[in-house]
Amino acid sequence: MEESRKRSDKRNKSLKSRIQQPSLKREASFREGVCPVAKKCGGCRYSGVPYQEQLAKKQKQVEQLLKGFGKVNRIIGMDKPEHYRNKVHAVYDFQKGKGIVSGIYQENSHDVVAVDSCLLENQKADAIIVSIRELAKSFKIKTYDEDTGYGLLRHVLVRVGHITGQIMVVLVLGSPILPSKKNFVSALCKLHPEITTIVVNVNNKKTSMVLGEKEQVIYGKGYIEDVLCGRTFRISPKSFYQVNSVQTEKLYRKAIEYADLTGEETVIDAYCGIGTIGLAAASDAGEVIGVELNKDAVRDAVINARINQIKNADFYQNDAGRFMVQVAQAQTKVDVVFMDPPRSGSTEEFMDALLQLAPDRIVYISCNPDTLARDLKYLTGAWDKGKTGPGEKVQGQEKAVRYAGKAEGAKGRLSRYRVMEITPVDMFPFTDCIECVTLLQKSN
Ligand code: SAH
Repeated sequence: MEESRKRSDKRNKSLKSRIQQPSLKREASFREGVCPVAKKCGGCRYSGVPYQEQLAKKQKQVEQLLKGFGKVNRIIGMDKPEHYRNKVHAVYDFQKGKGIVSGIYQENSHDVVAVDSCLLENQKADAIIVSIRELAKSFKIKTYDEDTGYGLLRHVLVRVGHITGQIMVVLVLGSPILPSKKNFVSALCKLHPEITTIVVNVNNKKTSMVLGEKEQVIYGKGYIEDVLCGRTFRISPKSFYQVNSVQTEKLYRKAIEYADLTGEETVIDAYCGIGTIGLAAASDAGEVIGVELNKDAVRDAVINARINQIKNADFYQNDAGRFMVQVAQAQTKVDVVFMDPPRSGSTEEFMDALLQLAPDRIVYISCNPDTLARDLKYLTGAWDKGKTGPGEKVQGQEKAVRYAGKAEGAKGRLSRYRVMEITPVDMFPFTDCIECVTLLQKSN
């Protein structure tokens, strides 16, 4: 009833009124979207918005937030912005009347919405997820019930090497035993011969984390390899790897251009994941030092240096802040720091040590413009000029004041930085996520 009334209201609107309300029209097209589950999923904020318009919106947003710090370049977009995600996650559930479904969690809930294909995701990965659902039915594998803890199949994670085509399937189970394991593996590989490895991950905790601690390789090597910026990278199930390979190349090239290396520099790659940025830059640097918290990622980074015969790169497993304090205390001379923290941004500990280390250039890669703005404020001393930065919005007034006050207290003792350029890179088309790479230069 409600639906039909809405529709007839729409028909009754005159052409004139629709022309005069372009934003309303756009809003409607976003809500209807091109994807049948756009509203429930909430992942594609820009579903139904033409790509050029998405880029313009992101550009405007970055400019509004960051142009006070320095020049904002034009956003680097994609030629073909669909199906870019090389990592695809699905949750499995049993629903009355439907049987086993695979898909995504509804936004802000733990209800599962059935999804067979997605505009963002790699299509082979989507097909594998559907096949696993069908195989689960024929192998009589029950889905895991988050409330009771009964059942087996919980999530599937598929990772696809963009250049190599290697595919990893991670079956996340509530307990370690997959019945008829051999037959299941051979049936899945028969349907999808492109699969190069299958890993069982055990997660029996009440948690929103997808992966648990324990892992068992049941087919292939237990990892995939991919090629980025001419280097080969090994990627383990729990290691971070950028989800949009095409744009990652552009992002890293911009970051390395900003680093302006001559072959002599000591470079830190902080929050380095599997070492991708540091190893891509190593041939232009004197020495690369990487630091990362996740131990599997650090192991991958060490092996990645070896695979690519890179001898001037070392990787350490540590909290990046703690590590930077140690480097600063040792009075190591560092020329360039790449920093690529998670969405929450960096920490006071990290940035205080960074200001003490005083590299000539900082290349800050960020997937969250709000925390980027907060951290730039810290590194540039923008609070001095009476500017109110967006830090308050992110952390709350109290935190921002404490933050600014602390660094101000250290004024004179620490180096200051100037933002030279900010380049947004569209790593996540159709979503409202924005990635930026920023060059900061020491100014005193
Ligand atoms: N530079 C990498 C990874 C960026 S993602 C790339 O481009 O692929 C951010 C990384 O920071 C993740 O690998 C995460 O494990 C790591 N990380 C999160 N908190 C950290 C901390 N406190 N110290 C060090 N690394 C951390």
